[in-house]
Amino acid sequence: MNYQYSGHEAWEQDRQHLIHPFSSLAVNKEEGCTVMAGADGVHVSDAEGNRFYDGIGGLWCVNVGYGRTEIIDAIAQQLRELPFYSAFNNLTNKPASALAAKLAQLAPGPLNHVFFGTGGSIANDSAVRMVHHYFNRIGKPYRKKILSRQNAYHGSTHLTIALTGPVYQHGWDGATDLVHYLSAPHSYRRPEGVSEEGFLDFLIQEMEEAILKLGPDNVAAFIAEPIMGAGGVIVPPEGYHKRTWDLCQKYGLFYISDEVVTAFGRLGHMFASYDKFGIQPDIICTAKGISSGYQPLSATIVSDEIFDVISRPDGAFYHGFTYSCHPAACAAGLKNIEILEREGICERVRKTGPIFQRTLKKLEELDLVGEVRGSHFMMCIENVANKATKQLLPAEANVGKRIAQNCQKRGLIVRPLGHLNIMSPPLILNEAQIEEIGDITHKAIVATM
Ligand code: PLP
Repeated sequence: MNYQYSGHEAWEQDRQHLIHPFSSLAVNKEEGCTVMAGADGVHVSDAEGNRFYDGIGGLWCVNVGYGRTEIIDAIAQQLRELPFYSAFNNLTNKPASALAAKLAQLAPGPLNHVFFGTGGSIANDSAVRMVHHYFNRIGKPYRKKILSRQNAYHGSTHLTIALTGPVYQHGWDGATDLVHYLSAPHSYRRPEGVSEEGFLDFLIQEMEEAILKLGPDNVAAFIAEPIMGAGGVIVPPEGYHKRTWDLCQKYGLFYISDEVVTAFGRLGHMFASYDKFGIQPDIICTAKGISSGYQPLSATIVSDEIFDVISRPDGAFYHGFTYSCHPAACAAGLKNIEILEREGICERVRKTGPIFQRTLKKLEELDLVGEVRGSHFMMCIENVANKATKQLLPAEANVGKRIAQNCQKRGLIVRPLGHLNIMSPPLILNEAQIEEIGDITHKAIVATM
């Protein structure tokens, strides 16, 4: 199978003109790309007609799978009626209002107000803008610092690359003084001889010390993904979220939950922070699964407390984008959530997610696999040179990339991230498909060893 589609017109145009998001541009130029051209259910196909399991769900986003004509029709109908109109000032539209109301109903507790954007970076950027605006409006303009974590991924705008951990900041030297980075809650890589409980105590102590050192009056918020995604699917130790949330309460920090990946069913719930981890954030940021990728859409869902201040009549909150509240994107979001609810996809994921987990976990019997971790349909394989010492292979070994290539040759797309391979498939996989994905991945890793 010619999995790299060299010689094709799209490939040539791409090589010469397209700046790829988040990619090594030099490598792309040299090696070329797979031209994706079609999709159905849990599969995608390239321009040569090769069909693959979509092990990455587009990019953590196609939750309800491909070919959903209901969503496509809802978008088309909205485009015919009103393709676009501004929502600045006193203008609105029906899908945006209806989706805001639906999200307020689904989101936990006092999260009743929704700001729409076009992606996860915008959602997180907007959350910080709102928090800063809040503190300015209540006369605490010094309260600006944000606590984030090593290995976090919160986006790629100038502000959100600062929230994102230093791993992805190569070649960028912007607004890092705004952000204080705490350790990642990475149990697999915790210091030798330290128990999981001891590691959790360390993380909590580190956070409290950071707040006290910076001065609680200078710290605005803590931002965290319920399970870190692009940083390596890092599942924190049991109790981590509750204890970090407690510290936010103690020192008056807002808790921003970045649920760009984890919401809308990926972990078996609409919102993982509340439903799975039992905390009540002040802001939840979502994107991706909100529209299953059928349209670019994000939502920053904020509490009554924040909204009441930023909506006071003594000023305006000047923040927004031309395509905030885009009617066709909101129509897609509404229909997508209707499908998630009608088909009971969260309940289904609570049954099939653990099967996916167990199937991939079996890969730990292979010498190359140090750990398989994650939850439900958010999984990661950490490849190592030595299982006992957890030592990594040299970067030049390109182990994640070679495994991904070996998977692709066998009909499965997985994501390489350095020495890791990440999987976040559509949530509608059945047991037989899960089995086949496990089998392909096993064979691909054996072929890489
Ligand atoms: N937050 C998280 C947790 C993400 O995984 C991502 C993207 O993968 C983002 C934010 C940024 O989203 P976007 O790429 O849509 O701007």
